[in-house]
Amino acid sequence: MTRYEHFINGRYRPGAAGRTFDNISPVDGGLIGKVCEADRSDVDLAVASARAALDGPWAQLDTAARAELLRRIADEIESRADLFLEAECADTGKPSREAEALDVARGAGNFRAFANMLYPHGDEAFAQSGAHGELLNVGQRVPKGVIAVISPWNLPLLLTTFKVAPALACGNTVVVKPSEETPATATLLGDIMNACGVPPGVFNVVNGFGPDSAGEFLVSHPGVDAITFTGETRTGEVIMRAAATGLRNVSMECGGKNPGIVFADADLNRAVEGTLRSCFSNTGQVCLGTERLYVERPIFDEFVARLVDATKTLRPGRSFDPDANWGPLISKEHRRKVLDYCALAIEEGATVQTGGCALDMVDDLAYGAWMAPTIWTGLPDGARVLREEIFGPCCHVRPFDNEAEALALANDTDYGLATTVWTENHNRALCVSHALNAGLVWVNSWYVRDLRTAFGGMGQSGLGREGGRHGLDFYTEHKNICFAYGGR
Ligand code: NAD
Repeated sequence: MTRYEHFINGRYRPGAAGRTFDNISPVDGGLIGKVCEADRSDVDLAVASARAALDGPWAQLDTAARAELLRRIADEIESRADLFLEAECADTGKPSREAEALDVARGAGNFRAFANMLYPHGDEAFAQSGAHGELLNVGQRVPKGVIAVISPWNLPLLLTTFKVAPALACGNTVVVKPSEETPATATLLGDIMNACGVPPGVFNVVNGFGPDSAGEFLVSHPGVDAITFTGETRTGEVIMRAAATGLRNVSMECGGKNPGIVFADADLNRAVEGTLRSCFSNTGQVCLGTERLYVERPIFDEFVARLVDATKTLRPGRSFDPDANWGPLISKEHRRKVLDYCALAIEEGATVQTGGCALDMVDDLAYGAWMAPTIWTGLPDGARVLREEIFGPCCHVRPFDNEAEALALANDTDYGLATTVWTENHNRALCVSHALNAGLVWVNSWYVRDLRTAFGGMGQSGLGREGGRHGLDFYTEHKNICFAYGGR
């Protein structure tokens, strides 16, 4: 049976108290392994190691050496891709093809991308002559220090490395607290760091839960200089309160209730295929996924029928089953929450076009967290199901009559993470994109990422931006040095 220990100061450690919790497979309810739960003293040790490493050989590496190290980490992840793939699939149950193409590929890709971005991320200088003589102002970017990385379970390796890679690129040290549901791939990264010669203490992992456990101990630790968090909005609020003590910086990538808009002039094949992906990739457990879809009335019936039909191509099965392209939800507890929303949708007046229930599976898969792709129509505007994030394979489709109505409906949310717009009228696409309140707008596409671009949401979807130079900005402090010269 697998055992996940903490990774502190370059070594795997069981933790002082020796407490563990079960890691349960969402596929069949079986026990994958035991996870060590960090107590306060383990977190203290991890943070102290990360602080000490800030002044060690890590600080002596110049930009070129750090970039080279990041590339080595990417190569090393790729050389152990099978191990990461197996671990990610065991924790999440997702189809291996999806995990291979997205999670593992981006795990390596994040390190390579931020290695490549280090050079263009330069400093600034301003020369000035005046009453004080000649002045030269030089801006310098310095590491923030110890970064706490708190990540969720839906894209574990991808999202953790999206934070760790820029943090290390900028010369910080990190303490990662992966989700209690998915400890495997973050923990495996410890071996990668050692193999690549990353100095002990630069990269640390503590496992455990959020409240009154490793997560809370870490974000409230005075030795942490900044916190980068991806997860639910309510958790983000709690972490921000902890970060207020000592005025620590936060980057918040939180929840969404993302709309999609399909105009009658859209390329329907492309829009159906793209919407199937945006609603149901990763079994609907993607922060960027579409949960509210607005379709122009002339094509509404046809679009709903085609989308429902397209869900029949989703075939549940184990991760490495070559015929399967549909995984379970992350846990039975999460499925309970999603099924509660299905019951609420009925109460609120929804018509179920497909799904709305758990999937009947046979043999040991009957003990997993399987759920059917779900499409509703008919909910009244303002229904709770249309306002609250479900984070499951559920989407409501509503007709609209004109652009202004579509925009008003799409923007009627407390969140503002991602939107999709499907139309062949590019002038309209630009106008609508401009008017949408969201950090990310995809036109005739969904979740295609250039890692140089900003990533993040408006409103309750988050605070700040990561990705590209925005990420590098977050992971550095800007210092201005003013030289007076001449006049002697
Ligand atoms: P979550 O908020 O329950 O947990 C996220 C992480 O925070 C976990 O590691 C958890 O242990 C930790 N945590 C919980 N309470 C804590 C506390 N008090 N102090 C410190 N850490 C604490 O989220 P989840 O269920 O793991 O993930 C799903 C959520 O993540 C959804 O809301 C989804 O939209 C969001 N998400 C957002 C993005 C984005 O980029 N905006 C990406 C992926 C997921």
